[in-house]
Amino acid sequence: MQLTLLRQKAELANAAFQRSILEGEARPQGQPTFDQRLQQSGLGRLRATGIEVLQINVGKVCNQTCTHCHVDAGPDRRENMSRQTAEAVIEVLAASDIPTLDITGGAPEMNPNFRWLVEQARRLDRRVIDRCNLTILMANGFKDLPEFLAEHDVEVVASLPCYLEDNCDSQRGDGVFRRSIEALRRLNSLGYGVPDTGRKLSLVYNPVGASLPPQQDKLEATYRRELKDRYDIVFSELHTITNLPISRFLDDLLKSNHLDEYLQKLIDSFNPLTVDGVMCRSMLSVDWQGRLFDCDFNQMLNIELAEGMPQTIEDFDAELLSQRQIMTGRHCFGCTAGCGSSCQGAVLKANPETSS
Ligand code: SF4
Ligand code: SF4
Repeated sequence: MQLTLLRQKAELANAAFQRSILEGEARPQGQPTFDQRLQQSGLGRLRATGIEVLQINVGKVCNQTCTHCHVDAGPDRRENMSRQTAEAVIEVLAASDIPTLDITGGAPEMNPNFRWLVEQARRLDRRVIDRCNLTILMANGFKDLPEFLAEHDVEVVASLPCYLEDNCDSQRGDGVFRRSIEALRRLNSLGYGVPDTGRKLSLVYNPVGASLPPQQDKLEATYRRELKDRYDIVFSELHTITNLPISRFLDDLLKSNHLDEYLQKLIDSFNPLTVDGVMCRSMLSVDWQGRLFDCDFNQMLNIELAEGMPQTIEDFDAELLSQRQIMTGRHCFGCTAGCGSSCQGAVLKANPETSS
């Protein structure tokens, strides 16, 4: 009941935000839209430069219900990519030279076609990324996953918003931190994150509240030290990601009356140097039903690809899609604030305006 209520509120918040984006409404009042801000910086509208990553969101089913989740995922969700759609994804990969398949969710491992997708993409010799919440690796029915991932040379990108238990649990739920540490130990024991094994384990940090992430390289050094000293855990790299005002996080901002303040922070921190590296320019996002989007955020806001573009994986057209105009809105300020933010972490190693 509680979850249903939360879901309805997040959906309503998303729908209103999407409507205002599509209508080009400026918010906070008097502030430029994202495209106007690009223009003020002498930059044109965003266009794709190719498709280096096919990111598939295989569904909204998850064993967690994190407070900041932009997918509004949870154990009661039923949306899951079917085998038919998964096959269409593999057909596109086979017929193209897209080097990377990035699998996200929900907890993507809970999709019944997850292992099949990994096997097929690896058979095509593509790099495969699993965006993993860690606790799923400790759940009944999934405990052999670490071995499966290692056997198929899957890169693991794992969420760990803090090296402190209380901060992590306040965002992701009671007990999540301890189970995440257990999962990281399992991954380390298989060589994940250990230098010279070729098994890459990246951690993802996102702020607990309505603030921007700190500088990535500095935070990475702190994570490395704290996780090693406290838990004897190692990892390959840290990605810092800015929370975008979508779904549950948007609802939280609205409830606490902080939406305009947060948007203003993102607008004030606009950094034109990040624009070249925003992820939508080199990736294409696919939802659980096979619909195409510029990124996972546009997917959650239901902002379709530009008019005239193929809208489903079945109609995939590499030439058209790799130079498409990208659909933007004020949520995009989240990708260009400070050092920038993407699925690979900060766009810039250091912000020349703030680094000393
Ligand atoms: S943030 Fe990730 S782990 Fe948390 S509920 Fe959403 S999809 Fe699940
Ligand atoms: S939210 Fe970010 S990745 Fe998505 S379209 Fe906007 S700038 Fe691109």
